[in-house]
Amino acid sequence: MWDFSTEPEFQAHLDWMRDFVRDEVRPLELLGLSPEQFDRATAPLKERVKERGLWAAHLPPDLGGQGYGQVKLGLMHEILGTTPFAPMVFGNSAPDSGNSEILALAGTEEQKDRWLHPLLNGDLRSAFSMTEPETAGSDPTLLQTRATKDADGWVISGHKWFSSHASIADFLIVMAVSDPDARPHQRASMFIVPADAPGVRIARDVATMEHPEDVYGQLGGHAEVFYDDVRVGPDALLGAEGAGFLIAQQRLGPGRIHHCMRWLGVAKRAFDMMCERATYRFSHGSVLGEKQSVQNFIADSAAEMHAARLMTLHAAWLMDTQGAAGARREISLIKFYGAKVLHDVIDRAVQVHGALGYSTDLPLEQMYRYARAWRLYDGADEVHRQTVARLILRGYVAPADGVPTEHVPTRRAEAQRRFADILEAVTSND
Ligand SMILES: Cc1cc2nc3c(=O)[nH]c(=O)nc-3n(C[C@H](O)[C@H](O)[C@H](O)COP(=O)(O)OP(=O)(O)OC[C@H]3O[C@@H](n4cnc5c(N)ncnc54)[C@H](O)[C@@H]3O)c2cc1C
Repeated sequence: MWDFSTEPEFQAHLDWMRDFVRDEVRPLELLGLSPEQFDRATAPLKERVKERGLWAAHLPPDLGGQGYGQVKLGLMHEILGTTPFAPMVFGNSAPDSGNSEILALAGTEEQKDRWLHPLLNGDLRSAFSMTEPETAGSDPTLLQTRATKDADGWVISGHKWFSSHASIADFLIVMAVSDPDARPHQRASMFIVPADAPGVRIARDVATMEHPEDVYGQLGGHAEVFYDDVRVGPDALLGAEGAGFLIAQQRLGPGRIHHCMRWLGVAKRAFDMMCERATYRFSHGSVLGEKQSVQNFIADSAAEMHAARLMTLHAAWLMDTQGAAGARREISLIKFYGAKVLHDVIDRAVQVHGALGYSTDLPLEQMYRYARAWRLYDGADEVHRQTVARLILRGYVAPADGVPTEHVPTRRAEAQRRFADILEAVTSND
């Protein structure tokens, strides 16, 4: 059965969200708020989201969420993605939302009481600390950060970077090698490390293409962190020893669906700007919307966004009906395809706006810098392409005789043998 409709009650939520995000949340983008000012400005908005029953909707109802499946969450994220602040106002911004899923999935009751519930209430902030400057993030089996067990717990030593939000976090979920002799995907474990534990040294927020200015302790910062013999108790271990990759894998699937739908929200915003501009900017005898190249930009963008949307919702549906393993190929597909669509639509919107598009008078240049990162993180494009190709190739075998299955002379000879009597009859009739 194929059905592309949205339940009317949920559609009413989506309509409310669209207006609320546009009218109440988007204006905050323009104020350059400090984390404290941001908390003050968003506190009443968060209350309205909670009253509406939409807070932390990614979590099961026993943890205060809605237990929405991935299709509904996807549709929701398409709206929230139109501004970086909306996910925070709805209690499901990265990295806190992913970390809350990890804690819900793998945490003990004590860990949930101490870390998860305050995180969900918005009383704590978190970071996920895996990538290291010295090893390829694309291949986390190479991780060097070590967690060594002793009688009192664990000692963690290592060097990480791009731990998003670490400079404002209360705790970090750190991926460290706990058994270097185990099989590659069973070497690492996850640990909950309080940000103020002795030996945690947050060296800087790395200035990036998205945030080129050197600031520290802001929302959206990506920190470089040293773990200098950080001592944590046995209760810091999150999930089973050696289960770090398994937990990360379970968390990443839904996260990627949410990211892809958020990108579509951003892409639609850029697309709307491009179309609006096309209606009135006049050059060489007509408005831009009458130039074929601009019409191609619009039509190609609409087609690509539609394809990415259907692919993402299909991946979400697979996730809901068959679980993470059943959606693996589709998740990798949307990760690199969605990132490219986002990038290309923004790029065209910049082009149609000319110098204005390149300027900071429009949000397009900022979107463009944001979009570039997505081809790298949560798995570089190439790694997802590799996954897709590997999974697809599992469905193929080399022909036993080394001749391609579709080889025309071989197929023709086979068909001539098979239908020899018909061919002979025709010939004798002649
Ligand atoms: C904005 C941003 C936020 C981030 N937030 C976090 C965070 O919160 N926590 C965290 O732990 N990390 C975070 N990261 C890090 C991110 O996960 C890594 O950047 C990513 O995994 C890639 O790792 P790398 O940077 O070490 O690149 P590398 O692994 O060195 O890869 C570099 C390039 O090599 C090529 N390559 C690698 N492998 C292959 C292959 N198999 N086939 C073909 N080509 C290949 C690709 O072109 C790739 O882009 C963030 C990164 C960014 C940019």
